Amino acid sequence: MKLICIGRNYAQHISELKNEKPTEPVLFLKPDTAILLKKQPFFIPDFSDEVHHEVEVLVKINRVGKHIDVKFAHKYYDEIGLGIDFTARELQQKLKEKGLPWEKAKAFDGSAVVGKWVSKSKFENLDNLPFSLLKNNKTVQSSTTQDMLWSIDEIIAYVSQFFTLKIGDIIFTGTPSGVSPVQPNDSLKGFIGEEQFFSIKVK
Ligand code: MG
Repeated sequence: MKLICIGRNYAQHISELKNEKPTEPVLFLKPDTAILLKKQPFFIPDFSDEVHHEVEVLVKINRVGKHIDVKFAHKYYDEIGLGIDFTARELQQKLKEKGLPWEKAKAFDGSAVVGKWVSKSKFENLDNLPFSLLKNNKTVQSSTTQDMLWSIDEIIAYVSQFFTLKIGDIIFTGTPSGVSPVQPNDSLKGFIGEEQFFSIKVK
């Protein structure tokens, strides 16, 4: 399985990183080894001292698809989750400046937190899901999927033009503003609405 990540999908996060607003979604992949194992803490890797949290709504693909039309995209997933796309920000910045791929900064071991999964039928409107990240019990990121530049269905249609989607693939739909570095002993808890989807410790 693969993790497909969307970058720059929330206007306020684009401005906080002083990035340009893209005309199409920014795509990158993480390997399955990036998934943080259940109940394990997140260890800040030795090669970085500025790892940022990026809380993101996740979508799990449930059937094989390629060149999916937006109007049929909803048939390709029935579970929604929440996770973190950990990013070694200073390293990503260096790679971006040189025009190099981001993988070292984005796809390292443990860089993908995948919380629990919930049936999408539990939510009234996937295009207006409120979600948040609490760091040490204080809200640091809070948004709704309404603020996405590209909706879940639009993302699926776009991604499937380039990559065949397979059962179990996970899409990270991008982060809102409020990203900041994590420190040892931080606790990170993710919520959709009032419901907790993950809780992890930083070491
Ligand atoms: Mg991200």
